[in-house]
Amino acid sequence: MKAVVILSGGQDSALCLALAVRKYGADQIAALTFAYGQRHSIETRYARRLARHFAIAEHKVVRLGFYKDLTSNALLDSKTKIRRGKKCPNTVVEGRNAIFLQLAAVWAKTLGATAVYTGVSEADFSGYPDCRERFIKAEEKAIRLALDYPIRIVTPFMHSSKAEEWALADRLGLLDYINANTVTCYNGIPGKGCGKCPACLLRNRGLAEYLSV
Ligand code: ZN
Repeated sequence: MKAVVILSGGQDSALCLALAVRKYGADQIAALTFAYGQRHSIETRYARRLARHFAIAEHKVVRLGFYKDLTSNALLDSKTKIRRGKKCPNTVVEGRNAIFLQLAAVWAKTLGATAVYTGVSEADFSGYPDCRERFIKAEEKAIRLALDYPIRIVTPFMHSSKAEEWALADRLGLLDYINANTVTCYNGIPGKGCGKCPACLLRNRGLAEYLSV
């Protein structure tokens, strides 16, 4: 196996999967989905569908249900209303990407893969500290030390805007597919979503921007 893709069922991770498949071939790709008490198991369902669509070698869904015992936020707790907040939205799941990357790297090592793909972006940085390039570089170093294994964390969209991501999806012939078959919305509505939550605004604004040029 060549790469493990962290697959949430959203637009960014679906595009990561497409890129990895294009680079290495579907039979060299494994994908990992974390169920950590998201409001919407629909994300997991969409991740499974994406894995099937791209016919990758392996897909695992790993449960991190304990996460909501340690921290709370609007994505984990269905009773909390999503707010934008001063520094970052209350949808941030503390430390999520650190845990996800560590676990994906462990599986990658088991499979003999050296690349871990994640769809994080600093350009659309909504205040999530663990989406920053500075963090990803440090985490890559820490994982290499922890596993004594030459893991590379691949972040194709670190400096891409959502409009640039849609442009890439279009170049790959996947614009309509990704638009219809991913779920980014914080309210768990697939495709275009609710159109009102921060995730929908970012996604739909990016698409409108790309389509207008
Ligand atoms: Zn939404």
